[in-house]
Formats: sequence, C-alpha cells, structure tokens
Amino acid sequence: MNEILEELSGRIVIVGSGLAGLMTALTLAPEPTVIVTRAALGVETSSAWAQGGIAACVGRDDSAALHLADTLAAGDGLCDAKVAARILAEGPAAIAALERVGVEFDRNSAGELSLGLEAAHSLRRIVHAKGDGSGATIVRALVEAVARTPSITVLESYEARRLLLDGDHVAGLLCATGKGTVILPSSRIVLATGGIGGLYDATTNPVGNFGQGIALAARAGAVLADMEFVQFHPTALDSRRWPLALVSEAVRGEGALLLNEKSERFMAEVEGAELAPRDVVARAISAEIARGGRVFLDARQALGNSFAQRFPVIDALCGEAGVDPSHELIPVRPAVHYHMGGVATDEAGRSSVPGLWVVGEAASTGLHGANRLASNSLLEAAVMGIRAARDIADTDASQAKLARGNLSMAAPDLSLVRPIVSRHLGVLRNAGAIHGAIAALLPLFDEDGASADPALVALLIAVFASLRTESRGAHARTDFPLKLPHAQRRTMRLSDALDIARSVPPYSLARSA
Ligand SMILES: Cc1cc2nc3c(=O)[nH]c(=O)nc-3n(C[C@H](O)[C@H](O)[C@H](O)COP(=O)(O)OP(=O)(O)OC[C@H]3O[C@@H](n4cnc5c(N)ncnc54)[C@H](O)[C@@H]3O)c2cc1C
Repeated sequence: MNEILEELSGRIVIVGSGLAGLMTALTLAPEPTVIVTRAALGVETSSAWAQGGIAACVGRDDSAALHLADTLAAGDGLCDAKVAARILAEGPAAIAALERVGVEFDRNSAGELSLGLEAAHSLRRIVHAKGDGSGATIVRALVEAVARTPSITVLESYEARRLLLDGDHVAGLLCATGKGTVILPSSRIVLATGGIGGLYDATTNPVGNFGQGIALAARAGAVLADMEFVQFHPTALDSRRWPLALVSEAVRGEGALLLNEKSERFMAEVEGAELAPRDVVARAISAEIARGGRVFLDARQALGNSFAQRFPVIDALCGEAGVDPSHELIPVRPAVHYHMGGVATDEAGRSSVPGLWVVGEAASTGLHGANRLASNSLLEAAVMGIRAARDIADTDASQAKLARGNLSMAAPDLSLVRPIVSRHLGVLRNAGAIHGAIAALLPLFDEDGASADPALVALLIAVFASLRTESRGAHARTDFPLKLPHAQRRTMRLSDALDIARSVPPYSLARSA
C-alpha cells in the first residue's frame, strides 16, 4: 500500500518550482500549500536559466496596446487576442509584485527600470536583473521568499508521476521519492512543470523536463491545445555542452549580426533582418546548416569590449566553449527552447479537469499563438501564477475521496523517444516524418513502460502536427509551405489523439526521413 501523507491533506499542491510555481505559492500565502519539485527548490528550471528578462509595457513610450500588437504579429494569427490583451496589461503589476517579494531589477542612473530590446518587439520593454542573469536573480529572490513563508511546505526531490481522481475530480498526487512512492491527498492541484525541451537532443531546457505536467493532465482527461507549436531558439551556442547554452536575442538586440561561414549576412534581405521573429530566423539558420554551412553571431563591432559587461553569463558560457565574443565569432545553431502548446486553460489557469490548474509553460492560454514573442513567457508565468492563486483561494477546499491502492510507476526514460522526436519533429516537418514519428512512438506508449510518458507527450505533438496541413509560426511543413486563410487553434483530449494515431497508416521509419 502506498504511504499517504495525511498530515498534508487538504493543502493546495503545486508541482514545480520555476517562476510559475513559486509565484502561485507566494501569492496563496498564508493559505497552506505544498510545493512538490523534482530537484532542489528553483533548480532544474528554465526560469532560473532565463537571460533576457521579462517583457512588460512599463516604458514611458510603451502601452499594453503596443505590446499586444507585437505579440499578435509574432503569434502569426493564432493568439487569443482577448486573453493576450488581459495578460499583457497585467505586466506592470507583475513586475511590481516581483519587486515586492524581493526581486531587484536593473535600473538606470535616474532610478527608472532599464529596458532591453529583443527580436520582434517594436521598442525597448525587456525588464532585466543583473544584466543577462535575470532568471537566476528572480528565482533566487523567490526561493528566499519561500524560505521566509511558513505556510509553504517544500518537498524536494519528489517527482509527480500520476494524478489520482475521484470520478473526474482531482483527489491526489502520486509521487516518487528517494524512499518509495507516496500519495499527497489534495483536491486542488496546480501543475507548473515547465516545457518539453527534454524530448529533443538539441535543447536549451533542463533535460529532465519533458512535459510531465502535460502527461499527468492528459492521462487525467484534460483538454490539450496547440501541441504542434514547438519554438526553436535560433541561436543556441553550438558547442559540446548538453543542454546547449543560449545566446540571448538581446545580443542581436544590441546589434550583433548573423553571418554564414562565407561571412555573408544572410538575414540582410529578410524583413526584420536579425530581429525577425524567432521562427523566421530559426528556419533561415536551419537552411544554412542543411546546405552544409555554418552560422555565427558577430558581436565584435556592436559590442566589442563591452560584451562581458552587458552579457556576463553569455560571456562566461562562450569562454567555456573557447570563444571570446568581443573579438571572435560565436558559433550558433537552433535548439528547442519553448512550447507554445500545452494543457488548455482559461484565464484563471483552470484546466478542463475539476480541481486542476495549470500555469506557466505547461499551459496553453492562447497568449503565444503559433510563435511566442521573446520574453513573454516569464511574464505569462508570473501573471498566471498570481491569477491561478487568486482563483484557487476562492474554491471549495473539501477533500475528494481517495481510493487506496498500491501504485508504482517506472522512472521515465527518454532514451528511446529522444532520437525519434529529434529526427522527425524538428524545425522542418512533412507528412512522412510526422507519420514515422507516430508509428515509432505508439508502441512505446502502448508498452506502458519507462518510455510511456515521454512517448505520450511526443505522440501528442506528432498527432497535432499531422493535422495542421499548413506552415504557420513555429510549425513549418515542407509539404504544406503556405498558410491557410483562416487560422484556427486546435484542442483535443488524449483519447482523441490516440484514435487518430491508431488510424495513421503504419509508415516505416526507414521511409519517412
Ligand atoms: C535558457 C533559457 C532562457 C530563457 N530566457 C527567457 C527570457 O529571457 N525571458 C522569458 O520570458 N523566457 C525565457 N525562457 C523561457 C522561460 O524561462 C520559461 O518559459 C519559463 O521560465 C517557464 O517557467 P515555468 O515555471 O513554467 O517552468 P520552469 O521554470 O521550467 O519550472 C518547471 C519546474 O517543474 C519541475 N518539474 C517538472 N516535472 C516535474 C515532476 N514530474 N514532478 C515535480 N517537479 C517537476 C521542474 O523541476 C521545475 O522545478 C528561457 C528558457 C530557457 C531554457
């Protein structure tokens, strides 16, 4: 029989300790909460690795309407404009809330927030902390705030493996710990498990994060949205490091240029040039690499000796790879960076499963559409963490019935799934590749072993990708290069996706390169 942590019964359980999870817990205080997190608090989070900062319309010449216009343009017709407008309008309040819990953002000599520029933003609006150490600075401050908050219990090195239901209502969470499997009884659970980067070889994300929140919610019957939209960051530092380090867009924002191995500025003729939306730049770089070329960022002229001062973290990462960005070219390549899709939620972070909220990158609110605008994700994580907390505080706390049992799950193993996803669901896709992925992933899901959860998340990406017969935002199909006239978001439950996967003709992997 699994041990049930009765002493924590009735508390709100939050899974994940990135910005979304930490903000949810801190906003709920003094309501008792439990944070369940796979590693130490704040560690193994994309949040702590963020460099650029948080987009928020706090500048004197900025407005929520301008921020919305840039977000909708990057989202390539697929943003939910109403949801986006409301989330973006709360940017300045989210910055103030972060400052109240102790985050110190960079300010200029006049004491105003100093603002960076990133790709596809029409003006400077990226609030940052300690230069390019924004994520680490924010997460450190929030972790310290959690330590000062007695109502928050932290369970580190606990991995959420299954949601337990009473009918269709959330009733508890099954977790693996170093000492075995335990159950947390709770009828109010928040998933803040981050992105899916771990599914790919070339990723900038913590490699153990493969979309566990999506797997948990999907198995509990939640509606998923826009799963095919996986954002590739155009400029990961091309080195032996795993995961790949990022060279933030802010470097291009300061004027660095993209060159190929022939020193040609191949983005010069493209609208927006180096600061075009991410999908455009990623496709252009992929094309250079696909023809056997190499791609570099040239910051020598734009930043030169000031590089290390403006971008200390990136400078150190380059140094680790033997590159001095003030005098040398920085080798770059695209890598999986962000997932626009996820568990469908409303504006309060509620999923379709009663008692289940999903916030941050694991959710799909409709803010990002087909392509996230740079630095809108930390903003969404903070705003939605605050909103979900306020919504939960108003809900019924009575405990749902928890069936006793003896459940155990194998630790997730990504080794069989990663090569399939990396080869078939990359920057450029086509029907053969997508169907090949489905054919290879389905048996791994059906075997119900250690590959099942990563295979489930990958299968959802592949099934959604198979249905989108157009190229839009981050979803680029070589067999459907054009955009359909009417953009539509897509939602589906796991059961529907499995039906579709099982009806796909069994293409062999060999035929589907
Ligand atoms: C290198 C890098 C740079 C970035 N730069 C920026 C930027 O400048 N601006 C911006 O807006 N966005 C940036 N992003 C994206 C942004 O950081 C993320 O989208 C955002 O931090 C997601 O926050 P989150 O709280 O949803 O997830 P995360 O911060 O990734 O946290 C997820 C948490 O869930 C835990 N977890 C996962 N599965 C389980 C499980 N089964 N059980 C228990 N715990 C689990 C993880 O360990 C972690 O604690 C960047 C991303 C990367 C990788």
